[in-house]
Amino acid sequence: MDLTYTAEEDEFRARLSRWLARTLPELPPPPDPLDWPGRRAYDTGWQRRLYDAGYAGLHWPVDAGGQGATPTQHLIFLEETEKAGAPYVGANFVGLLHAGPTIASEGSAEQRARWLPPVLRGEEVWCQGFSEPDAGSDLASLCTRAWRDGDHYVVSGSKIWTSHAEVADWCELLVRTTPVSGSVPKHRGISWLAMPMDAPGITVRPLRTLAGSTEFAEMFLDEVRVPVSHRVGDENDGWRVTMVTLSYERGTAFVGEVVACRRVLGELAREARKNGRWDDAVLRRRLGHLSAEFAALWRLTQWNVSESQRTGGVPGVGGSVFKLHYSHARQELYEAAADVLGPGALDLGHPWNHDRLSSLSYTIAAGTSQIQQNIVAERILGLPKGR
Ligand SMILES: Cc1cc2nc3c(=O)[nH]c(=O)nc-3n(C[C@H](O)[C@H](O)[C@H](O)COP(=O)(O)OP(=O)(O)OC[C@H]3O[C@@H](n4cnc5c(N)ncnc54)[C@H](O)[C@@H]3O)c2cc1C
Repeated sequence: MDLTYTAEEDEFRARLSRWLARTLPELPPPPDPLDWPGRRAYDTGWQRRLYDAGYAGLHWPVDAGGQGATPTQHLIFLEETEKAGAPYVGANFVGLLHAGPTIASEGSAEQRARWLPPVLRGEEVWCQGFSEPDAGSDLASLCTRAWRDGDHYVVSGSKIWTSHAEVADWCELLVRTTPVSGSVPKHRGISWLAMPMDAPGITVRPLRTLAGSTEFAEMFLDEVRVPVSHRVGDENDGWRVTMVTLSYERGTAFVGEVVACRRVLGELAREARKNGRWDDAVLRRRLGHLSAEFAALWRLTQWNVSESQRTGGVPGVGGSVFKLHYSHARQELYEAAADVLGPGALDLGHPWNHDRLSSLSYTIAAGTSQIQQNIVAERILGLPKGR
């Protein structure tokens, strides 16, 4: 494994950092975190700038509209954009980081041509309709049903925790196309559909989080008609396609945030020096420990990227190790932030407090910590299945 950068990669980094230094001062001020239409406009506007400058879909294959960059260049991109304080991927999260890569790897030529360019240009936003009230960790138990009616599926059921549903144009939707029976195990009758969010029969009811945001929603589907041509992969083969989606979600989707956490850690140390909390040796030790954690996570990221560069495949189970440790380290980071703020931790308007409340969801979203531990136990350590 080689973790050093080549001259070409250094040149790529320098070019990108010059572009960021020129472009970021031109951006409008970021919207209020609770203003979802404003956030959509801001996030897609940033995506358009990336597209115009040749940085959109950097690591996507060229025939999917991407730049065909290596995973290492993508890592450099994430590192430099975070370091420079560029906007977060935001509402484009699902489209760019897992629905898009899934369509690029599993979709037909027509599907790639239809759905990928608008994601890259920041014109269309995607959401993820996987979880249901009784199918989260046990995703294969999902009940949302799809019947064939000519060249359409008719979809009825409900989804929950659908992030960005309020502002999305498309949904990567899992449906049951064959009921579970003695001969059909539950993960064999599932299909992966691209559902237009403006189709009749869809009701989106926003849910308010602890941090006051309506970033996700319940979604009710009442005989929604989705063309059969919107199915990615074969009918009933959606579980395999889903595994591709989840490996992107856990493998690469949170990587840029490690750099952001390292930036916040630096801010905590500066604030502690200013307000006198730095004299507390216990707090200093905590910050030191976190610094080591995030350094290790960054090394793990490089290791995972180096592995996928060597194998040319989708991110492996190393993504679960990353997701498990990252989500806990992030929670510890914002616990430390509350300690640095002291009584200021009661001010819910402070961005660290908003992020602290949001950080609680990280050990649940994209697969809970217990599920990641099961994956690590079974697939990396080779331990027997729990059940
Ligand atoms: C902020 C946020 C955003 C989200 N966004 C989306 C989205 O956009 N689209 C979407 O489809 N979903 C989304 N989700 C849903 C998320 O993927 C699920 O919440 C998650 O998979 C857990 O499922 P569950 O809530 O049904 O909990 P359950 O599966 O009911 O789990 C309850 C508890 O039991 C534990 N548990 C369950 N099974 C096992 C097991 N086999 N071994 C050990 N422990 C186990 C779990 O770890 C957990 O602690 C989001 C969730 C959050 C918090």
